[in-house]
Amino acid sequence: MSLNILHNPDAADIARRPQDFLRQLADPTLIVVDGRDNSRCRAVSTLLHGNEPSGLKAVHGWLRRGERPRYRMLFFISSVAAALTEPLFSHRQLPGERDMNRCFRPPFDDRPGLVAGEILELLERYGPECLIDIHNTSGMNPAFGVATHEDPAHEALVTLFTRRLIITDIRLGALMETSRPDFPAVTIECGGNRDPAADRLAVEGLEKFLSRDEVLQLPATGLHLDLYHHPVRLELDSETRIRFADEPDPDADITVPRHLERYNFGRVGTGTFLFWLGPQGRARMRLRDASGGDVLSRYFNCIGHCLYAAQPIKLFMVTDNPVIARSDCLLYAAPESGHTMLDS
Ligand SMILES: [Zn+2]
Repeated sequence: MSLNILHNPDAADIARRPQDFLRQLADPTLIVVDGRDNSRCRAVSTLLHGNEPSGLKAVHGWLRRGERPRYRMLFFISSVAAALTEPLFSHRQLPGERDMNRCFRPPFDDRPGLVAGEILELLERYGPECLIDIHNTSGMNPAFGVATHEDPAHEALVTLFTRRLIITDIRLGALMETSRPDFPAVTIECGGNRDPAADRLAVEGLEKFLSRDEVLQLPATGLHLDLYHHPVRLELDSETRIRFADEPDPDADITVPRHLERYNFGRVGTGTFLFWLGPQGRARMRLRDASGGDVLSRYFNCIGHCLYAAQPIKLFMVTDNPVIARSDCLLYAAPESGHTMLDS
């Protein structure tokens, strides 16, 4: 096995600091903690990305308190080596390896793929009733959830943490894509990976997930959720030079104005200026929808060296970090659909 499995670790044996706790684990680890009732089981995944520590900190703090969960708990802590690579908590994955949260579909033949395959086997073996996968974004974002299914069970899981939910039909090989009606799984983006508010949100949401009798039902009184459908991803070639600045950088393929973050989860009207593009900028970016095709011209207009919104959209910045933006997605956009009231 690539994964270690620990059963009911003694709180007194767990190192005081999260990074020292990771050194104790050394490898990807499943921690099984028996509950007051073991007829049911729930699962938490965290640190699939080594630079996203809010979920790890919440799990570590809870384990150190030595409490019992309501039901048996599975805690998967995955990218231990990436997180421990100096500088601490700055590597999404180990250099040269695939993104761990793109490996939950075949082939499972490299190291992160083997870990992902074993996580799927262990989920099959223990049969948890649901899973939350806790992440951070790289910018100063508000929290949001992502799910592949739109139903009360997925919505109830997300509302333990946040009232914003993106329903995605894009398939990347992420853990939450293994969701089924009898095993709802969601991604929770707690907020920025250096934001103390994101750490608190993870602690509070995890506490509810561990202690509540039911986590898959919405309150009978109903609640208000902001729902976003059919997001598209802005993907950049790995060699793209991206800068965050208030005027176009002549050496950059894409210059993102710093104020763009103010549109986060807000409305962007037709004709709104978004980025400056260098000569190679357009050729190095693609806007992917669920079909995998490039739909950039449907959402954005390139006029001169500038990129504008071609229709009213909602923007979700997922990173303001050029290091990460070069290897992943810069932002999501969704056609403006407003929000949905869920009333009982
Ligand atoms: Zn992540």
